[in-house]
Amino acid sequence: MKTNFLKSIKFRLAILFTVILFTFSGVIILLFNVAIDNYLSTRQTPAPIVHQNQPSMPAPENEPTKDNRSRYANQLEDIKKYSIYGLFVMAVISLALGYYISGRFLKPLNELNDQIFKLKSNSLGAQIKHPPDNEFGETMNYFNEMSLRLQKAFDQQARFVQDASHELRTPLTILRTNIETVLDDKNASKTDLRNSMGDALSEIDSATILANDLLTLSRPQSKIREPENMSEIINESVAMMKKIANTSNVSIKSTIFDKNIPVLINKSEIIRAINNIIYNAITYSANVKSPHVSVTVKQANNTAIITIKDNGIGIPKSDIHKIFDRFYRVDKSRDRKTGGFGLGLPITKKIIIDHQGKITVTSKPGLTEFTIHIPLSN
Ligand code: ADP
Repeated sequence: MKTNFLKSIKFRLAILFTVILFTFSGVIILLFNVAIDNYLSTRQTPAPIVHQNQPSMPAPENEPTKDNRSRYANQLEDIKKYSIYGLFVMAVISLALGYYISGRFLKPLNELNDQIFKLKSNSLGAQIKHPPDNEFGETMNYFNEMSLRLQKAFDQQARFVQDASHELRTPLTILRTNIETVLDDKNASKTDLRNSMGDALSEIDSATILANDLLTLSRPQSKIREPENMSEIINESVAMMKKIANTSNVSIKSTIFDKNIPVLINKSEIIRAINNIIYNAITYSANVKSPHVSVTVKQANNTAIITIKDNGIGIPKSDIHKIFDRFYRVDKSRDRKTGGFGLGLPITKKIIIDHQGKITVTSKPGLTEFTIHIPLSN
């Protein structure tokens, strides 16, 4: 975008500079002229008084003669005239100088403008090198930070789309292979057909779950909040997950430390978040000896505190900081079989953060503990 020259800061600063200089010099010249006028009027000495019976006194030698006085006066008048001409010459010079100086001051701003103009989606993360140590430098540093943040956000977005397409391709490929096999096998029995269709259906289910999870992660969460009792929510959630725990032979127990824990939440979202953690706890402890999941809830420091513990395989130290990343799975092969896409924990975290809460995890083989904090309603 081209700036209107007359409205540009550079032009305005030059004008300001000129006006200030012009006024300042004008005042000095004015004072100077007044001083000259005063001087001239005091030097108009009266004609000597001559008495009749007294001979006239000769003028002292250093006293200016009448001719000399008028020459002085003319010279001083010239000085007055030239000082006024000089004032206008100075105005032109100061305009040029002001324009040049303000141009130099605004150079970093022009550089910043150029960088922002050049910034396209493929040049995100661009940095302005050597920002000066002044206010412009501060703005440039903010720009550099913003540019990096934008690049990070774009990279994350791109990775998310790549991972999502990759995950969606898998069930679609399996589906296609199943259909092709059935079509190619002219002698396929009814049972073969039914088995293939059954497999196809479970892949469709898997793709549907993935599509729903992606939608949950990408769209803003509902802002509807209602007063609920967190102890009741935990009871409901554990009751829902009991069936899954039973089929996996995992025992599950809940302990309610405080009967009434008032919270302002979106019930279905919070239940989904807690169920995700309980589901993982069941899944990743199902194959150990005497698998057990325990869920507790209490209130402390104005928050509802929920813990979900399991005695399963645990999360390796090297992976624990990544488990809330989208599509992150510690053991990819095992999790694909169990249907996990690595989206459960990112969804859970998003829900909890949306409720101004927080979620933490500690883990070692035989003991994994997730803790959720949700602020109490007042
Ligand atoms: P998934 O749907 O694959 O379970 P999540 O986002 O829910 O994805 O979990 C990410 C990864 O964290 C899982 O793949 C698993 O490796 C690990 N994980 C989560 N919870 C547990 C747990 N209780 N015990 C062991 N590993 C866990």
